[in-house]
Amino acid sequence: MIFDTHAHYDDKAFDSDRDSLMSQLPGVGIGYVVNVSASLASVKSTVALTEQYPYVYGAVGIHPNETEELKESDIRDLKEALQLPKIVAVGEIGLDYYWDTPGRDVQKYWFERQLDLARELDKPVIIHSRDAAEDTLNIIKAKGGADHRMVIHCYSYSVEMAREYLNMGYYLGIGGVVTFQNAKKLKEVVKYAPLDRLLLETDCPYLAPVPNRGKRNSSLNLPLVARAIAELKEIDYDSVIDAAYGNARRFYGI
Ligand SMILES: [Zn+2]
Repeated sequence: MIFDTHAHYDDKAFDSDRDSLMSQLPGVGIGYVVNVSASLASVKSTVALTEQYPYVYGAVGIHPNETEELKESDIRDLKEALQLPKIVAVGEIGLDYYWDTPGRDVQKYWFERQLDLARELDKPVIIHSRDAAEDTLNIIKAKGGADHRMVIHCYSYSVEMAREYLNMGYYLGIGGVVTFQNAKKLKEVVKYAPLDRLLLETDCPYLAPVPNRGKRNSSLNLPLVARAIAELKEIDYDSVIDAAYGNARRFYGI
């Protein structure tokens, strides 16, 4: 069975056919989906999806580019959602210096605040980090440490940086980008990283794998990602699927 560890099925890209698409997932081998929120509005829609579909679990947190207007009372709302039995992680949280808004101090403040929340509630964390490798690692080292479960979602940094995260016991989220021809660095990372630290993720509706690159992504595309990982690691497809499934259940505690 396949575990999609990072999806955004509440995105408007699914408004026209969300239920028919999601209802077919268990029948094609998608055992679990974790829907990940990014804004306060998507915290609510994520919780709603977990209530509607037995195989959908949720993560709640505020994406760095959505932190501009965040208030301490919003953290209380996150904390409340994190008490629900199917809300299994804090995320996605982190730093995004590619879009670089709001200012870096604001992004860092709320990243640290949400890491503290995860620590307080003993929940695993989904990290979003783009063009912010050093600051992300420094904050995680200061706030998280090796005894806190984390995944670096849509991992995009070097092998050297991967080693730092793997040494702390963290996971790397691998999605459609691994099938892109120009993703040399990521292919090296996938070859290097132990199979028991990889999580399969779509980040749908974004980042569909080849040959569906540029189209709307969904969990239905995950076999293409698993196949690419199997080829890079020179192991069989089923080993990738089974290992990633076990990793995800261990990571989320499901
Ligand atoms: Zn995402």
